[in-house]
Amino acid sequence: MSQIHEECGVFGVFGVEGAAGIVRTGLTFLQHRGQEGCGIAWCGPDGEIVLKRDLGLVSGVFPEDGYACGDGLHAIGHVRYGTSGGGGIDNVQPFLFRSRRGDYATAHNGNIVNARELADALSERGVLFHCSSDSEVLGALLGDALPSGGRISVKLLSHCLNLIDGAFAFLVLTRDALYACRDKYGLRPLSIGRLGRGYVVGSETCALYAAGASSVRDVRPGEVVRISADGLESSFYSSCTRCAMCAMEYIYFARPDSDIEGVNVHAFRKESGKILFRESPCRADIVVGVPDSGLSAAIGYSEASGIPLEMALVKNAYIARTFIQPTQEMRVSGVRMKLSPVKSLIRGRRLVVIDDSIVRGTTSRQLIHMLRDAGASEIHVRIPSPPLKNPCYYGVDISSREELISAGMDVDGVCRFIGADSLAFISEEGLMEAGGRTDMCMACFNRRYPTDIYSHGT
Ligand code: SF4
Repeated sequence: MSQIHEECGVFGVFGVEGAAGIVRTGLTFLQHRGQEGCGIAWCGPDGEIVLKRDLGLVSGVFPEDGYACGDGLHAIGHVRYGTSGGGGIDNVQPFLFRSRRGDYATAHNGNIVNARELADALSERGVLFHCSSDSEVLGALLGDALPSGGRISVKLLSHCLNLIDGAFAFLVLTRDALYACRDKYGLRPLSIGRLGRGYVVGSETCALYAAGASSVRDVRPGEVVRISADGLESSFYSSCTRCAMCAMEYIYFARPDSDIEGVNVHAFRKESGKILFRESPCRADIVVGVPDSGLSAAIGYSEASGIPLEMALVKNAYIARTFIQPTQEMRVSGVRMKLSPVKSLIRGRRLVVIDDSIVRGTTSRQLIHMLRDAGASEIHVRIPSPPLKNPCYYGVDISSREELISAGMDVDGVCRFIGADSLAFISEEGLMEAGGRTDMCMACFNRRYPTDIYSHGT
């Protein structure tokens, strides 16, 4: 039910027949990460890189019976959610850069926090930008740094990546290699799989598996992996690496059938539900998970508490996500459009409701009104994420503190606002324990940003 959103997903194939079609499959399984637009860049038999991109869903831009991607063994693709840099076709990736030294295409998930500073410096040197997305900066840096007669290489990429700060999973396609790069903090996920005699790489393992690939490993923080006819070649552009995976990937964005850095997302959420019960138990008759991302934690809460889990909320799969609706008024009515209460399960019962997070509070308030209307005698809300209090600068559209109810109210205040009988959030320690992790970005909860935030802080 959350109204926050990831901004993108990337997928690439190297050395497999019909690469563009495989990328299409991968993007379909990453569609939850972005629905505004999508694109595929593929390398034709003559070495020329061809780009097709448009606004819309993967199934619309690349319809199965009509999409015309040429032959080729290598391709990259992208699904976009349109916040950073605004909407429009120009910001839909991949970006294709034509150069006398060879074409290359880039696809990016995340956000570059010093993009403005880098773009200003490049503009002063005469470099032209074609869109308002921060993601264009890497391609522009590469073009600017390419020596006469030179080609994209690990060394050149490492030089450019060291100039960039922020969150990124970058794919760079040239005629003879696919480069997979991850930021040195490890904020955004990126995994490599094996498919036939070639390789695939993508934001989530669920897309790798859907393409028929087997998992090889994650790209490591600060690493550039060059995938070519010679196989995988690893190199690190930075010795300063962390393992600060975005906590919201586990809590909300990623699909439950994905594994991130060795931890299955469903298993993480289920464990967080168990820990949530240990930290904030309550007496109730049934546990109710809010579909979809509250369900795994609800299973964990039910198992740990012995309170039966019931499917007391049914999701209408054909209604768009509430956050896509632009106005507050439309958002409110969207809750009832999206979920239906099962009155016979709810009437006269004490509920523990598990939702992934509370953003503005309006969605939770509507949900609780709806459950009271359905006859619930008590409603206790448990949230398997800490209170959201700060903006995200790494590619997630949590843009201002004013939009976050927990930034301006304590837990009791939020509880009163949403109309629950009790409310509790998991602790940061509990969340870390759920994934067996020692490091994770939780800046939107605790304001400890792993990077400098440059002009965003002003
Ligand atoms: S600030 Fe929050 S949403 Fe942004 S990367 Fe960190 S954990 Fe994820």
